[in-house]
This record gives sequence, C-alpha cells and structure tokens, in this order.
Amino acid sequence: MGDTCHVCGQPLDDTNAVNCISCGRNIHFQSSDSPGDDCSHILTRPNVCGLSFMCNPCFERTSSSDSIA
Ligand SMILES: [Zn+2]
Ligand SMILES: [Zn+2]
Repeated sequence: MGDTCHVCGQPLDDTNAVNCISCGRNIHFQSSDSPGDDCSHILTRPNVCGLSFMCNPCFERTSSSDSIA
C-alpha cells in the first residue's frame, strides 16, 4: 500500500519488493531483465537459509569500509 523504494523512489509491487538486511527499508529487487536499474544486491550467505538483500547505499558503504570478498 503505497510503499516506495528508498533507493530510486519508485513504487514497489509484491513481485519485486525486498527488505534490506542492513537498514530494513523496502527496496526493489531487480531481476536480470533489468541490468541498468539495480537498487539492491543479492547476498548469498552460507550460514543463512535463503537469500538476503542489501540496498545499494548500504552495500556500497559496507564494501568500502569492510573488505568483504
Ligand atoms: Zn528501486
Ligand atoms: Zn539498506
């Protein structure tokens, strides 16, 4: 109901909305169909079941402060 992606500001729908694990805000998950508009990154974590997502601002902050391979 009126949720918007905090990265790009566009409306979210049920099929492409995920939560950033870092800031907890709603963001788009773009499939490979849309390579030019990525609001989030998929994080694959061996210790956690399923996939996690992180928004671009959090991802860039994390990758610049910590060197996660
Ligand atoms: Zn977005
Ligand atoms: Zn975030």
